Amino acid sequence: MSKKFIFVVGGVMSGVGKGVACASIGKVLQSKGYKVTAIKIDPYINVDAGTMNPTEHGEVFVTDDGDETDQDIGNYERFLDQDINSPNYMTTGRVYQSVIQRERNLEYEGKCVEVVPHVPEEVINRIKKASELAEADFTIVEVGGTVGEYQNILFLEAIRILKTQIPDDVMTIMVSYLPIPSKVGEMKTKPTQNAVRTLNSTGIFPSFILCRSEMPIDEVRRQKLATFCNIPKDNAISAPDVDNIYKIPVNFDDQGLGDKILEGFKMESKGKDMQKWRDLIEKISKLDKKVKIGVAGKYFATGDFTLSDSYISVIEAIKHACWANDVLPELTWLNTEEYEQDESKLEELKDYAGIIVPGGFGSRGVEGKIMAIKYCRENNIPYLGLCYGMQLATIEFARNVVGLEDVYSEEVKKDCINPVIHIMEDQKQKVEEKDMGGTMRLGAYPCVLDEKSKSFTAYGKKEISERHRHRYEFNNAYRNQMTEKGLLLAGLSPDKNLVEIIEIPDHKFFVASQFHPEFKSRPLNPHPLFREFIKAAIS
Ligand code: GLN
Repeated sequence: MSKKFIFVVGGVMSGVGKGVACASIGKVLQSKGYKVTAIKIDPYINVDAGTMNPTEHGEVFVTDDGDETDQDIGNYERFLDQDINSPNYMTTGRVYQSVIQRERNLEYEGKCVEVVPHVPEEVINRIKKASELAEADFTIVEVGGTVGEYQNILFLEAIRILKTQIPDDVMTIMVSYLPIPSKVGEMKTKPTQNAVRTLNSTGIFPSFILCRSEMPIDEVRRQKLATFCNIPKDNAISAPDVDNIYKIPVNFDDQGLGDKILEGFKMESKGKDMQKWRDLIEKISKLDKKVKIGVAGKYFATGDFTLSDSYISVIEAIKHACWANDVLPELTWLNTEEYEQDESKLEELKDYAGIIVPGGFGSRGVEGKIMAIKYCRENNIPYLGLCYGMQLATIEFARNVVGLEDVYSEEVKKDCINPVIHIMEDQKQKVEEKDMGGTMRLGAYPCVLDEKSKSFTAYGKKEISERHRHRYEFNNAYRNQMTEKGLLLAGLSPDKNLVEIIEIPDHKFFVASQFHPEFKSRPLNPHPLFREFIKAAIS
């Protein structure tokens, strides 16, 4: 069987859940018994997502092989329950970088190197390579941005060219938004008609339209889309808002999207299903007990709006862990900067069953987070620290339990007396030379657990592998002082040089990791640390 490529493009506006739609299409095809992979194309010039502020672009997701990608790679991993690696992520910057490098290497053999066809060619080569590496029957390719903008035009050109090369193996799906203006009171199809017309002008004709809206699409609008967008009426797929994104593959499956795609490629289902997934959705819908979890981050505010996108993997990991413990999460964003102004505000923490301090950078809000961690430690409130949350817990312990003065991370105060968190040896030069893109300690590294630890109990094994993204680390000069006062170094790198997990043994649950467990949590495979954290929170 020849390999199939499904391109997913966005119509009308961004932010309608194209990534989740791609992941869901993949899930549906996977449930028909096929091997699926997914690729994200980001139109940004940034070479990777690592240099983008989370409030600009959402969370930076980290892959096993150490790429810093768009958060949609995380969606693909969670829905497909498989690791997605660096070849499956590209940006305009990355594509141009390789074209220019190939030109420097004389690989174009004296030809004039042009934007078209050489850039789309590079895009196609990357897509084919990722598909081959994954040995995928279906490669879903999400083209970032919205049809009609300049930024993604070369990627659309790549779709058009590939379709001319292998017409029977390429399909395009548009995810579009159908507004229901409150004063008008009906769902409008015109913006989508225009988006399809714009897409047509690039030589691409979508086979399906996934109709994102507040409500399901009705027969009248389906017929309009069929008439004006050249698709069979039943290929206008309803994609209304849902309270749980993991319902979307089920919604698509119920409308026969998988079988219709297979039919379009003249293929047949291999007779599998998504029963386990459906069972989970069913189970969630019956849960009513809630657990109140506070997350202390700073990448939330943009203007008057609050964005939870910056911590999407953390949020999803909390959900997965809650469902595994038969509860629903009630999440609150804690603005720890307020604690710095008014210490009495810390009292609000006693209303929470558990607190998480996630990853972060720089000094803003750090003192408030340390105050929150102290409150958790002293009041036996379950605490889970993720990367910066581990570093700040280390600082808190050194200040308030060991009793050291002037304790900081070098990231916050370079010349402090007690840098219990300091820059990693191989990071020094990079920071000095401002070589900052993609140079942190990134991706999966092994870690060995102490058998006395809660982490060991959680994982049920001694050796684990987790994903990292940091430049600073636990300063080994302080190991003795800290362990003498009761801190447990629960996880170390195999050479014992790097502290990966700290715990406080006589606390209900106080576990903090240098790595980011949230990146490896999946709906049907919740992460052990999150699972045990929630278990402690509800006990
Ligand atoms: N800023 C810290 C470091 O670079 C923590 C990074 C993080 O939380 N991802 O080490």
